[in-house]
Amino acid sequence: MFDKILIANRGEIALRIHRACREMGIKTVAVHSTADHDAMHVRLADESVCIGPPPARDSYLNKAAIIAAATITNADAIHPGYGFLSENADFAQMVEEHGICFIGPTAEHIRMMGDKITAKHAAHEAGLPCVPGSDGAVETEAQAQELAHSMGYPVLIKATAGGGGKGMKHAHTPDQLIDAFRTARSEAKAAFGNSEVYMEKYLLAPRHIEIQILADNHGAVVHLGERDCSLQRRHQKVLEEAPSPALNADARERIGRVACAAIRKLGYRNAGTLEFLYENGEFYFIEMNTRLQVEHPVTEAICGIDIVREQIRIAAGAPLGYEQSDVRFSGHAIECRINAEDPQTFAPSPGRIGGFHTPGGLGVRVDSGLYSGYQVPPHYDSMIAKLIVHGGSRNECLMRLRRALGEFVIEGVKTTIPLHNWLVNEADFINGDYDIHWLQKMVDRSAG
Ligand code: ADP
Repeated sequence: MFDKILIANRGEIALRIHRACREMGIKTVAVHSTADHDAMHVRLADESVCIGPPPARDSYLNKAAIIAAATITNADAIHPGYGFLSENADFAQMVEEHGICFIGPTAEHIRMMGDKITAKHAAHEAGLPCVPGSDGAVETEAQAQELAHSMGYPVLIKATAGGGGKGMKHAHTPDQLIDAFRTARSEAKAAFGNSEVYMEKYLLAPRHIEIQILADNHGAVVHLGERDCSLQRRHQKVLEEAPSPALNADARERIGRVACAAIRKLGYRNAGTLEFLYENGEFYFIEMNTRLQVEHPVTEAICGIDIVREQIRIAAGAPLGYEQSDVRFSGHAIECRINAEDPQTFAPSPGRIGGFHTPGGLGVRVDSGLYSGYQVPPHYDSMIAKLIVHGGSRNECLMRLRRALGEFVIEGVKTTIPLHNWLVNEADFINGDYDIHWLQKMVDRSAG
């Protein structure tokens, strides 16, 4: 087992990884920008190294500085968390070349899944059904028009290097297409330095269903069930739940089996998530995330498996030690992502935290690096806390979630807690009756 792990991240996820390490008796090294010297993950880690100024490109994305920090502190592994360098194949390769273990899949698998076109090809080869669309990149406006015509509208233009919902534009008519094509390309260029796009049929009322996978270095593969992440704003997840209210036992069994078979075929190892759209009883692969996900705690809540601990064990070469039939599911879990944002306009709201009180009690978990007096910096993602609630049934979970949201106090910055308070009392949400467009429509309606 590792003696010391460097955590190449910040915020709640750095803390989450630190907690798993501490429970396993592994020492931790925090890295941080100058804006984060007072952050909770830095305070709790055994050692910390400042790796640069506030902008992420100079600190949390600075590969050489992070590897140097691991070398001088004698860390034997690096956990990348999510975001930042977690899906950067060159970084994973550099880490391994320096004799340090990268806690995640191989650089080849990260590279394969990081490009959405090669990912769809690989998924198709591995037996996964994909959203109908272009067979590769769409290079010209004329090509886009021809393809959209033969596929039928509406269509979605997506960035090959995409992530975080950027570089994604839909078109319902031929007049909208050229504009969507141009905007998607320029957005992709600005966000990823790569303007390449591809095209998919735009599904009108699907759910976003994703399957959590664990695979060790010895050929064992299990899935930990699904998460329903259909509640989104601007293609970004807002609230996630497990299991999905939209799946029956048959559909659940089928997608779990197909996902595990694909992972075996790909020879993938460590934790990963296969993302699908689900409409009219059919699953369509959209992408694979080769890392830990923000919403992993809902899965942990219903199956009692510490996913970060498993990632570390797998990276150290340990066998999973259990089979699919050993994975037991119990009850229902919901996660609310709480952002430092105006709940109406979604404008970021950085600032100093005043009063701070987290909810507690049975089945309530809060993952957050906040404390009273902490200064939320303006340089990074606005998510400041995750509230995860578990109950014996979906109804019990909802009752508990309302109670927990009511106890949560975060003063000094605006937060999206009021949005969640509204959401958990909406009839459609209570009935589990929503698709990926539902929340956006509701938000647009209240703004307009
Ligand atoms: P990113 O990597 O930018 O998050 P994804 O491919 O994972 O992009 O898609 C993000 C979200 O965009 C999905 O959860 C879904 O809501 C929406 N989306 C993606 N593809 C389609 C599609 N073909 N039709 C309708 N919505 C889609």
